[in-house]
Amino acid sequence: KAKAAGRNGIRFFDPQMQVAVSLRASLEQDLHDAIRLKQFVLFYQKQVDLRGEIIGVEVLLRWIHPTKGLVSPAQFIPLAEESGLIIPIGKWALHAACETLAQWACEPAKSHLTIAVNISVVQFREKNIVLTVLDALASTGAPAQRLKLEITESLLASNFQEVKTKMLELQQHGISFSIDDFGTGYSSLLYLKQLPLNQLKIDQSFVQDILSSPNDRAIAQAIITLAAAMKLNVIAEGVETQEQRALLELLGCEAYQGYLYGKPCALEELFL
Ligand code: C2E
Ligand code: MG
Ligand code: MG
Ligand code: MG
Repeated sequence: KAKAAGRNGIRFFDPQMQVAVSLRASLEQDLHDAIRLKQFVLFYQKQVDLRGEIIGVEVLLRWIHPTKGLVSPAQFIPLAEESGLIIPIGKWALHAACETLAQWACEPAKSHLTIAVNISVVQFREKNIVLTVLDALASTGAPAQRLKLEITESLLASNFQEVKTKMLELQQHGISFSIDDFGTGYSSLLYLKQLPLNQLKIDQSFVQDILSSPNDRAIAQAIITLAAAMKLNVIAEGVETQEQRALLELLGCEAYQGYLYGKPCALEELFL
């Protein structure tokens, strides 16, 4: 098989690859029209405290494709990032999330809940990102203090000063920041003390085998200890079992998100 691929591993007229390429192209074409055709929906996943009480949600984008059905973000987010379509798509998601936030602000039982929105590196590097976020808040009337942006370590790998300036500006408006998938990127820990951060999010890859893997447990412990020392809060993602939750609690984790508390779902189902 390696031989067929040629010396550099480059395959030219591989029919299987041809199919993959044209599938991608057609998916990208469809992605162009997806906002206008209202094919995106936001799903919501609970985040809970030690008592299991909801403290907020993370919004997760879903694309309902007319013929392919539900397309997962793992498939279309990379495509959207490469094509630049993540800019309008991300803007839509931010606006939709802020609409919900504004609605919750009027309901006493929900007014304390935060909404976390994923922001990709491509989006955050865009020069108008600060304005885009502030616009979403202003046009919906959502409280900035309840909006959290999830960024990843890869954002911090270059143009650090520019990223920092944008983050500080957003922080001044009351917006908070969480580092998503913490510990899976290639960044230095130096940035932790230089940026206006509020939360570290323990990646699900460390949670999954936390009961059986001493290494994963040690990493989770290190993240929790680091967060406490830096006065950041910490949340574990991908929590699926009571045993995982109990161990995370023992290690000092105070917030949890995962199938144990609910899969991402439509807004109407969130409080059922
Ligand atoms: P993420 O932000 O790290 O989100 C966590 C992913 O884990 C979500 O996948 C969620 O559905 C899944 N998950 C939650 N709890 C569990 C659990 O207990 N077990 C397991 N196995 N999985 C769990 P999803 O929704 O497919 O999203 C994948 C990624 O796509 C997200 O990772 C995020 O990076 C990106 N994404 C999703 N929505 C948006 C968006 O609106 N904007 C941007 N820029 N990226 C998004
Ligand atoms: Mg996230
Ligand atoms: Mg994550
Ligand atoms: Mg992840």
